[in-house]
Amino acid sequence: MSENTYNILLVEDEDSIRKFIKVNLQREKFNVLEASSGEEGLDKVMAEKVDVVVLDIMLPGIDGFKVCETLRKEYPYIGIIMLTARSQDMDKIMGLEYGADDYMIKPFNPMELVLRIKSLLRRMDKKVTDNGIVESKPFKLDVYSRKLYKNDEEIVLTPTEYSLLKIFIQNPGKAFKRDDLMNMVWGYNFFGDSKIVDVNVRRIRTKIEEDPSQPSYIETVWGTGYRWHINSEV
Ligand code: CA
Repeated sequence: MSENTYNILLVEDEDSIRKFIKVNLQREKFNVLEASSGEEGLDKVMAEKVDVVVLDIMLPGIDGFKVCETLRKEYPYIGIIMLTARSQDMDKIMGLEYGADDYMIKPFNPMELVLRIKSLLRRMDKKVTDNGIVESKPFKLDVYSRKLYKNDEEIVLTPTEYSLLKIFIQNPGKAFKRDDLMNMVWGYNFFGDSKIVDVNVRRIRTKIEEDPSQPSYIETVWGTGYRWHINSEV
């Protein structure tokens, strides 16, 4: 699993288009995964941590619409940019029916796609300020250097602890299921037990809580998982 780069999955059956997009994304330091059918695309999403899917509509087997619908239902936190023909109904693509985040009409300039992906990633990280800081008092998370500060003192985290904490801090008050946290941090090809989430939460608590046995930042949601507290000061 790559810790520092975003994983972009290209689902496109035409090799030449896929390769062309891939080269342009790699130049921007994105990690690129490829699939030439909808089925293969869904398999990849299940097996890897994917941040954004660039999804062609015209595919052999299940089409891009069906893939988009499935992604929205099963993996709501993955960004989706659809590649469409001019004749397709954009409102339907962006609307509730399929729920893509953005679309590009073929043929398109690959640099434009790069910009759309970056802008989508920024929207997905919408609580991050321009200088890369997410604040939840007394914490500051620097997403560029991947460092955590409590009252301006650094707290050293492992990459896994950082990934978990980032999800919490960016979603105050949202209850996450253990299984969802496991998939978001470790990826879908991780066959371990969701107890690994508990183990990491316990470690983070010893680092950030005043009293780890009475946690006030990462709250336990009984029977479900965990949530970051809502701080009325922020
Ligand atoms: Ca196609």
